[in-house]
Amino acid sequence: MLCSLKTHATLCGALLAALVLCGSMSARTCDAQAQRAGRPAGFAPLPKVTSPRLYVIDCGTLVYNRPEDYQLTREEVADTNMPVPCFLVLHPKGILLFDTGLSDRLVGRPLWENVDEGYGQIKFTTLRGQLADIGVTPADITYLAISHSHWDHVGNANEYAGSTWLTQKAERAFMFGPAADKAHLRLYDALASAHQLVFEGDHDVFGDGTVVLKYTPGHTPGHQSLYVKLARAGGVVIAGDLYHYCEERTLHRMPKEEETTGTPASRDTIERFLRETHAQLWIGHCTAFFRNAVKSPGWYD
Ligand SMILES: [Zn+2]
Ligand SMILES: [Zn+2]
Repeated sequence: MLCSLKTHATLCGALLAALVLCGSMSARTCDAQAQRAGRPAGFAPLPKVTSPRLYVIDCGTLVYNRPEDYQLTREEVADTNMPVPCFLVLHPKGILLFDTGLSDRLVGRPLWENVDEGYGQIKFTTLRGQLADIGVTPADITYLAISHSHWDHVGNANEYAGSTWLTQKAERAFMFGPAADKAHLRLYDALASAHQLVFEGDHDVFGDGTVVLKYTPGHTPGHQSLYVKLARAGGVVIAGDLYHYCEERTLHRMPKEEETTGTPASRDTIERFLRETHAQLWIGHCTAFFRNAVKSPGWYD
């Protein structure tokens, strides 16, 4: 093939017409034409960065009123609802999407229809649309990683199965083994055949220490958090569900079942890491965090 453009399976169909025309062109002209063909007319240009840039994306809200499940009382919790953010990291060497939130298919549906396991799901805007606001198509995303496979984090996972999936071995086994959540497997089943990198422990995504998946098992067998070292904002650890309510951290609480599955040790590991690196901790399901965060298309760098 003449074109040297990095292609993804999902992009190939859209590029076919351009590639047919490539035969008599220089590789550079050919690349430019294929690039245009892969991006809809008027689509915002892909931002170029020289250091990591981190976006906080609104991927929905869970309406909930049982903080007792997290060993907290209603009086102890400022807000029993839970925001559901997704995160995008632009790095000079590629793009990482961390978590995919509630399904984009929920947008416009009535709340009563969107209740799942006692959680009402509110979704006003799509992940895909917010990525477009930044100038990112699914085909631009190099890597997909999820903190863990619970349904509020994998709602759109299948749409990003054209990226390389970065996964803990234990989480992959959990997702597709006998303990899999059969009711929600359809949200992420395309990942089984995605190009994937399977590892155990921490994983340095771009090889320079600025974007690192931190192994924090307990909430699920292969739960992971994400460390991003930003030039101006400093270090950030995105907790995933290592904590849910902000008060879990200040009052030292957790779901009863997690007391024996590894969460206490993982919390100790991350708290130590935060002290060593002077990084801040972002708890996605914490309303105080999400309310005050700079949301996409604004960013942290
Ligand atoms: Zn979870
Ligand atoms: Zn969650």
